[in-house]
Amino acid sequence: MSYRKPLPQIEPANQTFWDGLAQGEFRVPRCTNCGHYNWVPFPACRSCLSEDQEWTAVSGEATVWSFSVVHRGPGAFDDDVPYAVVLAKLAEEPRGCIVIGNTVGIDPADLYIGMPLRIVYEAIEGEDVTVFRFAAADAAQPDDADAALSVENQPATVA
Ligand SMILES: [Zn+2]
Repeated sequence: MSYRKPLPQIEPANQTFWDGLAQGEFRVPRCTNCGHYNWVPFPACRSCLSEDQEWTAVSGEATVWSFSVVHRGPGAFDDDVPYAVVLAKLAEEPRGCIVIGNTVGIDPADLYIGMPLRIVYEAIEGEDVTVFRFAAADAAQPDDADAALSVENQPATVA
């Protein structure tokens, strides 16, 4: 079956971001003047207004800042209800970046503010697009035995 949800409009201004997802990297514009990360992307740094920014891969670590659970989704999203939309705060500092996204592998009833997350990547079958989702930080990657073995070493939490 073909993919029925909206796909991103990939254009020169955001090509680096989408290329990053395809390579398993979440890239955020980082100011080369003050070092702050800026999300969502904008032509100038929100801290110092410098226009000198570089797409920089972040760790993919994040925590739940807020979330909403959707019980009636539009169109193809209705197949997924109930699903969560999270505002996730990236681990990168000093000024926090809040990224909106969907979760994968998390029962929405288990979400809580401060829950550790990590970004995972999903290639859309039949499309030249990779998207990102937020998974529980201690969830094993299906193809990553090392991650499964290190679950007990994850930080317990916080916030
Ligand atoms: Zn700056």
